[in-house]
Amino acid sequence: MTDWTPNMDLLRRYDDAEWLKVERTYCGRMMAYVSRRISDRDAREDIVQETFLGAVRGIDLYDAAYTFEQFLFGICKNRTIDHMRRTKMPTLGGTGLEGDDRPTIEDLARDDETPSRIVRQKDLEEAGVRMLQDLFRTWVEETWKQEEFVRLMVVEALFAGNWRNRDTWQRFDLRDETSVAGIKFRALKRLRELALERDTQRKIAPLLTAAVDSGDGLAIDVSDTWREGRVSCPARHWVARLVAGTLAPGPTAFLRFHLDEMRCDWCRANHDDLVELEKSADLEPLLSKVGASTLQYLRSRTLPKT
Ligand SMILES: [Zn+2]
Repeated sequence: MTDWTPNMDLLRRYDDAEWLKVERTYCGRMMAYVSRRISDRDAREDIVQETFLGAVRGIDLYDAAYTFEQFLFGICKNRTIDHMRRTKMPTLGGTGLEGDDRPTIEDLARDDETPSRIVRQKDLEEAGVRMLQDLFRTWVEETWKQEEFVRLMVVEALFAGNWRNRDTWQRFDLRDETSVAGIKFRALKRLRELALERDTQRKIAPLLTAAVDSGDGLAIDVSDTWREGRVSCPARHWVARLVAGTLAPGPTAFLRFHLDEMRCDWCRANHDDLVELEKSADLEPLLSKVGASTLQYLRSRTLPKT
């Protein structure tokens, strides 16, 4: 099973066939994501339908820094939150949806800060988040290639899960707390090296490493950055092999940790979808409904102007 990705040029040109292929490919995992949060079946289908429609409408806003699946999941998450708000469902802990209570621009504004200063700081922070995600991703790739899955789990537990050293060494059967501190120290050292390689002008790297190290520097939430960037999320074929039971012990341990303990929303959605596929769940009725609404929109965009 490969991770098919759509041809973005075709999507931007509102190509029917490519858009329908998108729906066929991603419908199951979107449904699985929504199903963990919304109990009403009709509402779920509406959300999935609105997600694909939102993707068609917003395709010009797609940012190549993210994968297409991340783009879709982002829309799906917003539609889910909208629905929960409309129906006054609590959006409290455990839903994975609490991330949107960030301070607004009004909250950030203080007497001594002019709007342009705030914007500059915000730009810097956005650039910092991008760069940090990039560094994390590189570090995860390196660690995965070295098959250092315990190291990967420890760093994910510390950075994404905000685990304490004490809990971490016990969970992973390490010698003691200093083993955890050692792993963290070496990871930070490597991240710093990578930061200096990429940020040759030294504009962001020093602020960034301060943010990760001690929480100073930029106001960047390391855990959010790790999770939102999906820096350690395995490609779908790894999850497929986990479901099929053909994955080696190292990556299996990591995937189980990532799914069950880090409770990654997106990977759990992929996992649920693949489990359903094994049971060959019937998505055809939903797919034809979703397809019809997308085609209608595509027609409205591509009809010759008279
Ligand atoms: Zn994940």
